[in-house]
Amino acid sequence: MQPLYEGKAKRLYTTQDQDVLRIVYKDEATAFNGEKKAEFAGKGELNNRLTSHFFEVLAAAGIPTHFIERTSEREQLVRRVTIIPLEVVVRNVVAGSLSKRLGIEEGTVLETPIVEFYYKDDSLGDPLVTPAHINLLKIATTEELSLLEQEAHRVNDVLRPYFDNKGITLVDFKLEYGKTPAGEVLLADEISPDTCRLWDKETGEHLDKDVFRRNIGSLIDTYQTLFNRLGGNGQ
Ligand code: UDP
Repeated sequence: MQPLYEGKAKRLYTTQDQDVLRIVYKDEATAFNGEKKAEFAGKGELNNRLTSHFFEVLAAAGIPTHFIERTSEREQLVRRVTIIPLEVVVRNVVAGSLSKRLGIEEGTVLETPIVEFYYKDDSLGDPLVTPAHINLLKIATTEELSLLEQEAHRVNDVLRPYFDNKGITLVDFKLEYGKTPAGEVLLADEISPDTCRLWDKETGEHLDKDVFRRNIGSLIDTYQTLFNRLGGNGQ
């Protein structure tokens, strides 16, 4: 069966139900807009379990997502949405591109979390965009943008204490939203160590994809450690 869409980390298939898609998590990891690539046996399974678990944590806190259920080691069913082409990044601590762009030291704790928008376009390198740019590109209205910003803060308000309780700092993360045919905006895509920065509160150890980006450790050992720290079986 041909995928409806193949991304860097996942493949999407249609199902008999036109409102439901099947996602298959791949073992591939990429960084720097696809310039760095590698396969890690077991990554797809770990990210499928972790994403499913985080979406369940959010659903329990009353945050709607596209997630329906995890159906196998690598697969989950989700509600079909049209992805809004924005990466919604939430930051609690300075790291990565924010540190480089503004010259603030990595690890500086932000007094209040901030939300940024990046335009999802590989050929442009996913540039940071302002609300005026987003209006200009007709990606979202001002009202939709403030909803996204509010919703992203709400996700942070659930996940930050969740990780804190496990001895982990949620440094930053990326969200994607989609629209159902009825126009409902839902949290979509994935939440995993591919899309979050997670630092051990005591040692500062990186428990996320930075180990691959920065060549500072084994990706699979790191994701497995995270998985075990969260109680194994993603609980
Ligand atoms: N992120 C992501 N996909 C992207 C870009 C960023 O999931 O295409 C996540 C990244 O893992 C981090 C957060 O968004 O948790 C902020 O990333 P940043 O802007 O600092 O970019 P980076 O330094 O990763 O290039």
